[in-house]
Amino acid sequence: MARSVGGHAAPFSRVLLVRLKFITTACCAALATLTCGPWAMAAPDRDFWPPTVSLSEPDGAAALTAMGSTWSTGEQWTTRATTIREHVRLTLGLPTARPWPLHPIRRNVHVHDGYSVEAVAFESTPGVYVTGNLYLPLRYKGLRPAVLCPHGHSGARGDDPEGRFRRNHQVRCATLARMGAVVFAWDMVGWGESTQVEHRRSASVTLQTFNSMRVIDFLLSLGLVDPDRIGVTGSSGGGTQAFLLTCVDDRVAVSVPVVMVSAHFFGGCPCESSLPIHDGPAHNTNNVEIAATASPRPMLLISCGGDWTSNTPSVEFPYVQRVYAALGKPGNVANAHFADEWHDYGASKRAAMYPFMAKHLGLDLGAVQNAEGVVDESAVVVHPREALVVFDAAHPCPGEQKVFMGTGV
Ligand SMILES: [Zn+2]
Repeated sequence: MARSVGGHAAPFSRVLLVRLKFITTACCAALATLTCGPWAMAAPDRDFWPPTVSLSEPDGAAALTAMGSTWSTGEQWTTRATTIREHVRLTLGLPTARPWPLHPIRRNVHVHDGYSVEAVAFESTPGVYVTGNLYLPLRYKGLRPAVLCPHGHSGARGDDPEGRFRRNHQVRCATLARMGAVVFAWDMVGWGESTQVEHRRSASVTLQTFNSMRVIDFLLSLGLVDPDRIGVTGSSGGGTQAFLLTCVDDRVAVSVPVVMVSAHFFGGCPCESSLPIHDGPAHNTNNVEIAATASPRPMLLISCGGDWTSNTPSVEFPYVQRVYAALGKPGNVANAHFADEWHDYGASKRAAMYPFMAKHLGLDLGAVQNAEGVVDESAVVVHPREALVVFDAAHPCPGEQKVFMGTGV
């Protein structure tokens, strides 16, 4: 389906504008609730999901070209990026202040070769818990870089668990920690140990993005992290979390969204595309431009031939290159494309991410390379889910069992 771009509101956009007024009202209600207690967002429910989250490939490319006609200089892009960023913040209804204490819970520590991993929970808002694992480097002194590692929607496969417990996810986090990064992996809303809020709710994109911001708050609270060297990387739905966080939170210094940034597909889950973050009162945008608001901060797009990022070398990446060139930082953006690969964050894609993070965050790539200069992840100990959880029968979640995020507007 064709959508207009730039400053022209199409009928589709006018529909979304009506929705935006509704959602803004809902978000104000949520903020009022946030100031006095647990998150009980009165956000729109699943009936509010947009009618489509994808375009044909030619339509997506044409829309991106049209977006590119709305600016030509770095100054004009910066103005457009500010509009995009402020609209995303407004549409998500993100609080401008975060006065709530984190009340972190840390336990279940395992020490390995060059890193440790422990289970963590903290309150993103009173009574609402983020659950995850903190990986700490053991061989370094002074403030360290941090890397946030959100996960996507892939479910368990055979004996390989889902989310932050997946083998690949543990390997990625632990290897970054062995390179000297403080790393955090946490559950998506309604995933893993996050059982208080259902995942497939329109409001989950808001809470998920807010939780990502709170992960940075938590990492900085440790007194171990250099606030100027914070990176984020995730694939698929984790890629969406990565570029949304980078868009709304300028504490992110390096962004590596993997197999997600596309001109023709914006994600099929409410946590990605339930709210009209792309359609403002005087602009239309897409995930390519939202990701490009990272500029001039370093960003690596990792893409593959087997999904909606298959055109990245010819469509999405040239656009983002143009943004960085306009800002005088063409060397801060790169694309690693795997034409024969599928939608995952496998070893080859991780091997592209590690040196980019090392270069821009000051990590020690040599600590994980073998004599041939190849990254060796074999020192990582993969734990079963039971060893990584923060809550169990002996350590129950102290918060409310369920937090209502339904209708009420
Ligand atoms: Zn989702």
